[in-house]
Amino acid sequence: MVEGEELLLAVLNSAPVIDGKPTDALEPAEEGSRWLRSLGGCGTTAEREAVRGVREALHRLIRGDSTDLDALNAVLRDARLCPTATSEGLQWQLEAASDQELAVRVVLAWSTACEELPGRLRPCANEECNLFLVDHSRPGTARWCSMAACGNRMKARNHARRRRAGETVTPGNPTARTPGG
Ligand SMILES: [Zn+2]
Repeated sequence: MVEGEELLLAVLNSAPVIDGKPTDALEPAEEGSRWLRSLGGCGTTAEREAVRGVREALHRLIRGDSTDLDALNAVLRDARLCPTATSEGLQWQLEAASDQELAVRVVLAWSTACEELPGRLRPCANEECNLFLVDHSRPGTARWCSMAACGNRMKARNHARRRRAGETVTPGNPTARTPGG
């Protein structure tokens, strides 16, 4: 069973834009169900819709686009955390409808991330990739889902932009062409 931050990021990052093309791990239905089962879910249509609703609501919340909590409250409505005493304190057992349990666990993981790492769950600075990150770096300055995927690309783009800007004010500079590129 995938849990905690791993589960949260798996779901948040399940609709990446790859080479400009939106993708979705929940589509098509059969593959979506298989993916949900790999996370510990049951793979039903209702579960797909619950996870999709929670994912879209969290995307908007984390981006600051909307504070619409309906989709989150819809899956939380019938959920219960039941305590059991252990020698080390209380253990909390989640009780939820089987179709909604996975979506509830995603919301719980999001809440834990907000509490334990305030401000560290954020969208990638490349708005085109549709990915999110939890910044565990000490200075808290991580900006990209990954340096390989977006960090280098954004740096290259900024570099190219600066170079283009430079070219316009440098007369006689022929069209820049990277040797061998
Ligand atoms: Zn990214």
